[in-house]
Amino acid sequence: MLRDQVYNFAPGPSTMPESALKTAAAELLNFRGSGMSVMEISHRSALFQEVFDSACQKLRQLMNVPDTYEILLLQGGATTQFAAIPMNLLEGGTADYAVTGNFSGKAAEEAAKYGKVHIAATTKPTGHDRIPAQTELKLTPGAKYFYYCANNTVYGTEWQYVPETRSTLVCDMSSDILSREVDVSKFGLIYAGAQKNMAPAGLTVVIVDKALAGRELPITPKILSYKTMIETGSMLNTPPCWCIYMLDLTLDWVLAQGGVKAMDALRRERARLLYDFLDESRLFKAHALPGSRSFMNVTFRTGDADTDAAFVKGAAERGLLNLKGHKIAGGMRASVYNAMPVEGVQALVNYMKEFEVRHV
Ligand SMILES: *Cc1c(COP(=O)(O)O)cnc(C)c1O
Repeated sequence: MLRDQVYNFAPGPSTMPESALKTAAAELLNFRGSGMSVMEISHRSALFQEVFDSACQKLRQLMNVPDTYEILLLQGGATTQFAAIPMNLLEGGTADYAVTGNFSGKAAEEAAKYGKVHIAATTKPTGHDRIPAQTELKLTPGAKYFYYCANNTVYGTEWQYVPETRSTLVCDMSSDILSREVDVSKFGLIYAGAQKNMAPAGLTVVIVDKALAGRELPITPKILSYKTMIETGSMLNTPPCWCIYMLDLTLDWVLAQGGVKAMDALRRERARLLYDFLDESRLFKAHALPGSRSFMNVTFRTGDADTDAAFVKGAAERGLLNLKGHKIAGGMRASVYNAMPVEGVQALVNYMKEFEVRHV
Protein backbone atom coordinates (compact mmCIF):
# COMPACT_ATOMS: atom_id res chain seq x y z
CA MET A 1 0.00 0.00 0.00
CA LEU A 2 1.08 3.59 -0.50
CA ARG A 3 1.27 5.95 2.44
CA ASP A 4 -1.58 8.09 1.14
CA GLN A 5 -3.89 5.05 0.95
CA VAL A 6 -3.58 4.34 4.64
CA TYR A 7 -4.84 5.68 7.96
CA ASN A 8 -2.93 4.15 10.84
CA PHE A 9 -4.96 3.81 14.05
CA ALA A 10 -2.14 2.11 15.99
CA PRO A 11 -2.02 2.79 19.75
CA GLY A 12 1.74 3.35 19.90
CA PRO A 13 4.10 3.59 18.18
CA SER A 14 1.60 5.56 16.15
CA THR A 15 0.99 7.97 13.30
CA MET A 16 3.36 10.92 13.18
CA PRO A 17 2.92 14.24 11.38
CA GLU A 18 3.94 13.79 7.75
CA SER A 19 5.82 17.10 7.73
CA ALA A 20 8.09 15.82 10.52
CA LEU A 21 8.82 12.62 8.62
CA LYS A 22 9.51 14.52 5.41
CA THR A 23 11.94 16.92 7.10
CA ALA A 24 13.69 13.98 8.75
CA ALA A 25 13.97 12.24 5.37
CA ALA A 26 15.40 15.33 3.71
CA GLU A 27 17.95 15.85 6.49
CA LEU A 28 18.77 12.21 7.05
CA LEU A 29 22.14 12.01 5.30
CA ASN A 30 23.42 15.51 5.89
CA PHE A 31 22.14 17.22 9.01
CA ARG A 32 22.17 21.00 8.60
CA GLY A 33 25.39 21.12 6.61
CA SER A 34 27.42 18.98 9.01
CA GLY A 35 28.05 16.27 6.42
CA MET A 36 26.73 13.75 8.98
CA SER A 37 23.38 12.33 9.97
CA VAL A 38 21.88 13.51 13.25
CA MET A 39 22.23 9.84 14.23
CA GLU A 40 25.98 10.06 13.76
CA ILE A 41 26.87 13.18 15.74
CA SER A 42 27.93 13.34 19.36
CA HIS A 43 25.28 14.05 21.95
CA ARG A 44 27.90 16.38 23.48
CA SER A 45 28.25 18.43 20.27
CA ALA A 46 26.98 22.00 20.02
CA LEU A 47 24.90 20.92 17.02
CA PHE A 48 23.01 18.30 19.02
CA GLN A 49 22.68 20.53 22.08
CA GLU A 50 20.85 22.99 19.81
CA VAL A 51 18.33 20.27 18.90
CA PHE A 52 17.92 19.30 22.54
CA ASP A 53 17.41 22.89 23.71
CA SER A 54 15.04 23.61 20.86
CA ALA A 55 12.81 20.64 21.74
CA CYS A 56 12.76 21.60 25.43
CA GLN A 57 12.04 25.25 24.67
CA LYS A 58 9.13 24.39 22.35
CA LEU A 59 7.65 21.97 24.86
CA ARG A 60 7.99 24.59 27.58
CA GLN A 61 6.22 27.12 25.37
CA LEU A 62 3.45 24.75 24.21
CA MET A 63 2.65 23.46 27.71
CA ASN A 64 3.39 26.72 29.48
CA VAL A 65 5.85 24.99 31.83
CA PRO A 66 6.96 27.28 34.70
CA ASP A 67 10.69 27.91 35.21
CA THR A 68 10.57 26.07 38.52
CA TYR A 69 10.10 22.83 36.56
CA GLU A 70 12.77 20.88 34.72
CA ILE A 71 12.04 19.11 31.45
CA LEU A 72 13.97 15.84 31.27
CA LEU A 73 14.35 13.83 28.06
CA LEU A 74 15.12 10.28 29.16
CA GLN A 75 15.40 6.69 28.01
CA GLY A 76 13.50 3.71 29.39
CA GLY A 77 9.92 4.35 28.32
CA ALA A 78 7.00 5.17 30.56
CA THR A 79 7.43 1.81 32.31
CA THR A 80 10.77 2.86 33.78
CA GLN A 81 8.97 5.75 35.48
CA PHE A 82 6.70 3.24 37.27
CA ALA A 83 9.82 2.49 39.37
CA ALA A 84 11.57 5.87 39.20
CA ILE A 85 8.59 7.73 40.69
CA PRO A 86 8.39 5.78 43.97
CA MET A 87 12.19 5.57 44.19
CA ASN A 88 12.41 9.36 44.02
CA LEU A 89 9.25 10.50 45.76
CA LEU A 90 8.00 7.84 48.16
CA GLU A 91 10.63 8.36 50.90
CA GLY A 92 9.40 5.30 52.79
CA GLY A 93 5.90 6.80 53.10
CA THR A 94 2.53 6.03 51.54
CA ALA A 95 1.38 6.96 48.04
CA ASP A 96 -2.20 7.00 46.78
CA TYR A 97 -2.82 5.36 43.42
CA ALA A 98 -5.97 5.54 41.30
CA VAL A 99 -6.15 2.32 39.29
CA THR A 100 -8.27 3.04 36.24
CA GLY A 101 -6.64 0.74 33.72
CA ASN A 102 -3.73 -1.39 32.64
CA PHE A 103 -0.83 1.00 33.10
CA SER A 104 -1.91 2.57 36.40
CA GLY A 105 -2.34 -0.97 37.76
CA LYS A 106 1.19 -1.85 36.72
CA ALA A 107 2.54 1.39 38.17
CA ALA A 108 0.87 0.65 41.53
CA GLU A 109 2.33 -2.88 41.62
CA GLU A 110 5.81 -1.55 40.89
CA ALA A 111 5.57 1.19 43.52
CA ALA A 112 4.59 -1.33 46.20
CA LYS A 113 8.17 -2.68 46.03
CA TYR A 114 9.50 0.61 47.42
CA GLY A 115 6.96 1.65 50.02
CA LYS A 116 3.28 1.61 50.90
CA VAL A 117 0.73 1.91 48.16
CA HIS A 118 -2.85 2.74 48.95
CA ILE A 119 -5.39 2.17 46.21
CA ALA A 120 -7.40 5.41 46.35
CA ALA A 121 -9.87 4.17 43.74
CA THR A 122 -10.20 1.29 41.31
CA THR A 123 -12.50 0.82 38.36
CA LYS A 124 -11.55 -2.82 37.84
CA PRO A 125 -14.96 -4.24 38.97
CA THR A 126 -16.67 -2.71 35.91
CA GLY A 127 -13.92 -3.47 33.40
CA HIS A 128 -12.37 0.02 33.59
CA ASP A 129 -15.29 1.60 31.75
CA ARG A 130 -15.23 4.87 33.68
CA ILE A 131 -13.21 7.38 35.69
CA PRO A 132 -13.97 7.74 39.41
CA ALA A 133 -15.49 11.02 40.61
CA GLN A 134 -13.55 13.27 42.95
CA THR A 135 -15.86 12.23 45.82
CA GLU A 136 -14.95 8.56 45.30
CA LEU A 137 -11.22 9.10 45.85
CA LYS A 138 -10.13 7.73 49.23
CA LEU A 139 -7.13 9.89 50.01
CA THR A 140 -4.53 9.08 52.67
CA PRO A 141 -3.72 12.00 54.99
CA GLY A 142 -0.01 12.74 54.66
CA ALA A 143 0.43 10.72 51.45
CA LYS A 144 3.67 11.50 49.62
CA TYR A 145 1.87 11.77 46.32
CA PHE A 146 -1.30 10.94 44.41
CA TYR A 147 -0.74 9.01 41.19
CA TYR A 148 -3.07 8.67 38.24
CA CYS A 149 -2.98 8.00 34.52
CA ALA A 150 -4.72 10.78 32.57
CA ASN A 151 -5.75 8.66 29.61
CA ASN A 152 -6.19 4.90 29.66
CA THR A 153 -4.80 3.78 26.35
CA VAL A 154 -6.06 0.20 26.59
CA TYR A 155 -9.64 0.68 27.86
CA GLY A 156 -10.33 4.11 26.35
CA THR A 157 -11.22 6.25 29.34
CA GLU A 158 -9.79 9.65 30.20
CA TRP A 159 -9.91 11.90 33.26
CA GLN A 160 -11.97 14.98 32.43
CA TYR A 161 -10.85 16.74 35.60
CA VAL A 162 -7.65 17.17 37.58
CA PRO A 163 -8.08 15.49 40.98
CA GLU A 164 -7.87 17.72 44.03
CA THR A 165 -5.56 16.36 46.67
CA ARG A 166 -3.39 17.76 49.45
CA SER A 167 -0.45 15.67 48.26
CA THR A 168 1.81 16.07 45.23
CA LEU A 169 0.07 15.18 41.96
CA VAL A 170 1.91 12.71 39.72
CA CYS A 171 0.43 11.95 36.33
CA ASP A 172 1.14 9.56 33.46
CA MET A 173 0.16 11.55 30.36
CA SER A 174 1.72 9.16 27.85
CA SER A 175 -1.30 8.98 25.59
CA ASP A 176 -2.84 12.44 25.85
CA ILE A 177 0.02 14.88 26.38
CA LEU A 178 -0.25 17.91 24.07
CA SER A 179 -3.84 17.05 23.12
CA ARG A 180 -5.40 19.41 25.66
CA GLU A 181 -4.39 22.28 27.88
CA VAL A 182 -2.91 21.35 31.25
CA ASP A 183 -2.05 23.62 34.15
CA VAL A 184 1.41 22.21 34.84
CA SER A 185 1.70 24.17 38.11
CA LYS A 186 -0.92 21.87 39.69
CA PHE A 187 1.40 18.88 39.30
CA GLY A 188 4.59 17.76 40.99
CA LEU A 189 5.48 15.52 38.10
CA ILE A 190 4.10 14.77 34.66
CA TYR A 191 5.61 12.13 32.44
CA ALA A 192 4.94 10.56 29.07
CA GLY A 193 6.40 7.86 26.88
CA ALA A 194 6.81 9.71 23.59
CA GLN A 195 5.57 7.06 21.15
CA LYS A 196 1.86 7.90 21.41
CA ASN A 197 1.67 11.60 20.73
CA MET A 198 5.17 13.02 20.30
CA ALA A 199 7.99 10.99 18.80
CA PRO A 200 9.26 7.48 18.06
CA ALA A 201 9.59 4.91 20.87
CA GLY A 202 12.65 5.26 23.07
CA LEU A 203 12.08 8.68 24.61
CA THR A 204 10.32 9.57 27.85
CA VAL A 205 9.51 13.16 28.72
CA VAL A 206 9.49 13.98 32.44
CA ILE A 207 8.36 17.40 33.65
CA VAL A 208 9.29 17.67 37.30
CA ASP A 209 9.04 20.38 39.94
CA LYS A 210 12.70 20.95 40.84
CA ALA A 211 11.74 21.18 44.53
CA LEU A 212 11.00 17.44 44.44
CA ALA A 213 14.53 16.46 43.42
CA GLY A 214 16.99 15.02 45.94
CA ARG A 215 14.58 12.89 47.97
CA GLU A 216 15.43 9.53 46.43
CA LEU A 217 15.88 6.31 48.37
CA PRO A 218 19.55 5.37 48.81
CA ILE A 219 19.09 2.32 46.55
CA THR A 220 17.89 4.45 43.62
CA PRO A 221 20.13 3.85 40.59
CA LYS A 222 21.82 7.03 39.45
CA ILE A 223 20.22 6.70 36.05
CA LEU A 224 16.76 6.92 37.69
CA SER A 225 17.56 9.86 39.98
CA TYR A 226 15.75 13.07 38.99
CA LYS A 227 18.38 15.06 40.90
CA THR A 228 21.21 13.53 38.87
CA MET A 229 19.35 13.96 35.59
CA ILE A 230 18.57 17.61 36.37
CA GLU A 231 22.23 18.23 37.24
CA THR A 232 23.49 16.57 34.06
CA GLY A 233 20.91 18.12 31.70
CA SER A 234 19.44 14.64 30.97
CA MET A 235 22.90 13.54 29.86
CA LEU A 236 24.31 11.36 32.59
CA ASN A 237 24.65 8.98 29.68
CA THR A 238 23.73 9.16 25.99
CA PRO A 239 20.17 10.39 25.58
CA PRO A 240 17.89 9.04 22.81
CA CYS A 241 19.25 11.54 20.26
CA TRP A 242 17.18 10.49 17.25
CA CYS A 243 13.92 10.54 19.21
CA ILE A 244 14.71 13.97 20.62
CA TYR A 245 15.29 15.23 17.10
CA MET A 246 11.94 13.76 15.98
CA LEU A 247 10.27 15.33 19.02
CA ASP A 248 11.62 18.71 17.93
CA LEU A 249 10.15 18.23 14.43
CA THR A 250 6.79 17.09 15.83
CA LEU A 251 6.64 20.14 18.07
CA ASP A 252 7.28 22.34 15.01
CA TRP A 253 4.17 20.79 13.52
CA VAL A 254 2.08 21.31 16.68
CA LEU A 255 3.16 24.97 16.77
CA ALA A 256 2.37 25.43 13.08
CA GLN A 257 -1.15 24.03 13.63
CA GLY A 258 -1.80 26.60 16.35
CA GLY A 259 -0.46 24.85 19.45
CA VAL A 260 -2.34 22.90 22.09
CA LYS A 261 -5.56 24.92 21.58
CA ALA A 262 -5.68 23.70 17.98
CA MET A 263 -4.93 20.12 19.10
CA ASP A 264 -7.79 20.41 21.59
CA ALA A 265 -10.23 21.48 18.88
CA LEU A 266 -9.13 18.59 16.65
CA ARG A 267 -9.48 15.99 19.39
CA ARG A 268 -13.03 17.16 20.04
CA GLU A 269 -13.91 16.93 16.36
CA ARG A 270 -12.49 13.41 15.98
CA ALA A 271 -14.13 12.12 19.18
CA ARG A 272 -17.47 13.70 18.31
CA LEU A 273 -17.58 11.92 14.92
CA LEU A 274 -16.84 8.55 16.51
CA TYR A 275 -18.95 8.71 19.67
CA ASP A 276 -21.96 10.29 17.93
CA PHE A 277 -22.00 7.39 15.52
CA LEU A 278 -21.39 4.78 18.24
CA ASP A 279 -24.25 6.13 20.37
CA GLU A 280 -26.77 5.67 17.57
CA SER A 281 -25.34 2.46 16.14
CA ARG A 282 -27.41 -0.72 16.20
CA LEU A 283 -24.28 -2.87 15.88
CA PHE A 284 -21.39 -1.21 17.67
CA LYS A 285 -21.25 -0.23 21.31
CA ALA A 286 -18.73 2.11 22.95
CA HIS A 287 -16.91 0.54 25.92
CA ALA A 288 -16.41 3.69 28.01
CA LEU A 289 -19.30 5.45 29.73
CA PRO A 290 -20.24 9.01 28.74
CA GLY A 291 -18.35 11.49 30.90
CA SER A 292 -15.32 9.20 31.08
CA ARG A 293 -14.62 8.68 27.40
CA SER A 294 -11.18 9.06 25.92
CA PHE A 295 -10.56 11.55 23.15
CA MET A 296 -7.47 9.60 22.10
CA ASN A 297 -8.37 5.89 22.21
CA VAL A 298 -11.94 5.10 21.24
CA THR A 299 -12.84 1.54 22.26
CA PHE A 300 -15.90 -0.27 20.92
CA ARG A 301 -17.23 -3.72 20.08
CA THR A 302 -20.09 -5.54 18.40
CA GLY A 303 -20.43 -8.09 21.20
CA ASP A 304 -19.51 -10.97 18.89
CA ALA A 305 -15.82 -11.90 18.50
CA ASP A 306 -16.18 -13.19 14.92
CA THR A 307 -17.97 -10.04 13.79
CA ASP A 308 -15.27 -7.93 15.47
CA ALA A 309 -12.58 -9.90 13.62
CA ALA A 310 -14.42 -9.47 10.30
CA PHE A 311 -14.65 -5.75 10.93
CA VAL A 312 -10.93 -5.41 11.64
CA LYS A 313 -10.03 -7.49 8.58
CA GLY A 314 -12.33 -5.54 6.25
CA ALA A 315 -10.97 -2.26 7.62
CA ALA A 316 -7.38 -3.28 6.91
CA GLU A 317 -8.33 -4.14 3.31
CA ARG A 318 -9.41 -0.50 2.95
CA GLY A 319 -6.25 0.89 4.48
CA LEU A 320 -7.80 1.52 7.91
CA LEU A 321 -5.06 -0.16 9.88
CA ASN A 322 -4.46 -1.45 13.41
CA LEU A 323 -8.01 -1.29 14.76
CA LYS A 324 -7.87 -4.50 16.79
CA GLY A 325 -8.32 -3.87 20.52
CA HIS A 326 -5.66 -4.67 23.11
CA LYS A 327 -5.62 -8.39 23.94
CA ILE A 328 -6.76 -7.82 27.53
CA ALA A 329 -9.71 -5.64 26.46
CA GLY A 330 -10.82 -7.30 23.21
CA GLY A 331 -13.06 -5.62 20.63
CA MET A 332 -11.76 -2.66 18.64
CA ARG A 333 -9.78 0.43 19.44
CA ALA A 334 -9.27 3.45 17.21
CA SER A 335 -6.29 5.42 18.46
CA VAL A 336 -6.74 8.96 17.20
CA TYR A 337 -3.82 10.98 18.48
CA ASN A 338 -2.83 14.51 17.43
CA ALA A 339 -1.42 13.47 14.06
CA MET A 340 -4.56 11.57 12.94
CA PRO A 341 -6.38 13.74 10.39
CA VAL A 342 -10.13 14.24 10.83
CA GLU A 343 -10.48 12.72 7.32
CA GLY A 344 -9.08 9.46 8.71
CA VAL A 345 -11.80 9.36 11.34
CA GLN A 346 -14.43 10.22 8.73
CA ALA A 347 -13.20 7.33 6.57
CA LEU A 348 -13.46 5.01 9.57
CA VAL A 349 -16.99 6.13 10.43
CA ASN A 350 -18.06 5.69 6.79
CA TYR A 351 -16.74 2.11 6.87
CA MET A 352 -18.49 1.43 10.19
CA LYS A 353 -21.79 2.60 8.69
CA GLU A 354 -21.38 0.37 5.66
CA PHE A 355 -20.37 -2.59 7.79
CA GLU A 356 -23.38 -2.07 10.04
CA VAL A 357 -25.80 -2.15 7.13
CA ARG A 358 -24.38 -5.52 6.03
CA HIS A 359 -24.41 -7.04 9.53
CA VAL A 360 -27.67 -5.99 11.16
C1 LIG B 1 2.04 3.01 26.32
C2 LIG B 1 1.81 3.47 27.69
C3 LIG B 1 2.68 3.15 28.74
C4 LIG B 1 3.87 2.25 28.55
O1 LIG B 1 4.83 2.89 27.77
P1 LIG B 1 6.27 2.28 27.49
O2 LIG B 1 7.00 3.44 26.92
O3 LIG B 1 6.08 1.16 26.52
O4 LIG B 1 6.83 1.82 28.77
C5 LIG B 1 2.42 3.66 29.99
N1 LIG B 1 1.35 4.45 30.21
C6 LIG B 1 0.49 4.77 29.23
C7 LIG B 1 -0.68 5.65 29.54
C8 LIG B 1 0.69 4.30 27.94
O5 LIG B 1 -0.18 4.62 26.98
